[in-house]
Amino acid sequence: MKTANELIAEYQPEEVHYHHDPKTNLKTIVVIHSTALGPATGGTRFMMYPVWEAALEDGLRLAKGMTYKSAAAGLNFGGGKAVILGDAKKDKTPALLRAYGKFIDRFNGRFTTGEDVGMGYEDFLTIGQETRHVAGTKGIVTDLALVTAHGILYGIRACCKAVYGNDSLKGKRVAVQGAGKVGYHLIARLHEAGAQMYVTDIDKKSLERVQKEFNVKIVEPTEVYATECDIFSPCALGGILNDQTIPLLNCQIVAGSANNQLKETRHGDRLHEFGILYAPDYVINAGGLIGGAQELLNGSMQKALKDAEAIYDRLLAILEKSKRERIPTHRAADIMVEEKIAKARMG
Ligand code: NAD
Repeated sequence: MKTANELIAEYQPEEVHYHHDPKTNLKTIVVIHSTALGPATGGTRFMMYPVWEAALEDGLRLAKGMTYKSAAAGLNFGGGKAVILGDAKKDKTPALLRAYGKFIDRFNGRFTTGEDVGMGYEDFLTIGQETRHVAGTKGIVTDLALVTAHGILYGIRACCKAVYGNDSLKGKRVAVQGAGKVGYHLIARLHEAGAQMYVTDIDKKSLERVQKEFNVKIVEPTEVYATECDIFSPCALGGILNDQTIPLLNCQIVAGSANNQLKETRHGDRLHEFGILYAPDYVINAGGLIGGAQELLNGSMQKALKDAEAIYDRLLAILEKSKRERIPTHRAADIMVEEKIAKARMG
């Protein structure tokens, strides 16, 4: 495990705060990775960690990811993340959540937060009694997964434009891994667009639902990678693009909602070598964040969907850079985002 000093040197956050409230036993770390483009925003996760440094690393990694996702989505927000250390089932009390809300309020809007692992809608209603700097309680964008799926659809179209010269999905074969909240909405949209789908999930009920509603073909979870298709759309888990799965892929495009799809950065290079176009996850799956931003800005669902459609042009610009400079798409995305943040920092 890296030391706190090593982690800070690696991630270079603007601020890291640890807060302990002895009355409620709240122990939390708030990371503000960057405010170069605007106030930091990111979820709060309530989780047990084996050691303190593991919680710090999670917060730093996720906060940095938020900086990149926000910048890639063209939002005037920076990246942050909060971690509450403990067992969400046993340790989460209304008093602790209110103490957390008071702590968040101290940032005066420099950090705003919403749901992540171990936290739910009700929790944020309690936190919201102490601070207005929370997202997801106003009822403006009630289904973030729908906005995410809408963005994924536009991202898939952009990939098709880059690979096939047109963005029609009619007759395109799409293998979807995961028919959960995002997967369901994506499958509905792909169906409307005339795509042919192969779907896998480990949950029988989710599969039965999409099979009944959209007449998709079901494949086994282990078979999805090798399924012959045009587009593989991972909408379930992270780390699924790795040494074992990449050689199995039988598609031209990988474009889906899952976070951290590349097990390691080098796996993006591998896809590039194999001639498979990879839509960088944090660019294509920004719809949820775009929806969350509308909550913070008192906007609307309609605006969230419209903004998610802009993923098409943003992704296309990245794909064009990748082609022009003969670099993998995930590297092209990182370079574009880092340039944008550096420019904003220079003022
Ligand atoms: P979800 O939990 O509703 O759906 C995930 C689905 O994947 C579930 O149906 C689950 O049974 C299935 N699954 C799990 N393991 C599997 C396996 N080995 N093989 C096949 N299926 C498997 O989650 P979601 O909200 O739909 O999110 C899906 C992915 O997209 C996650 O990685 C999430 O982090 C990411 N994401 C979601 C949003 C959002 O708005 N919900 C936004 C950005 C990114």
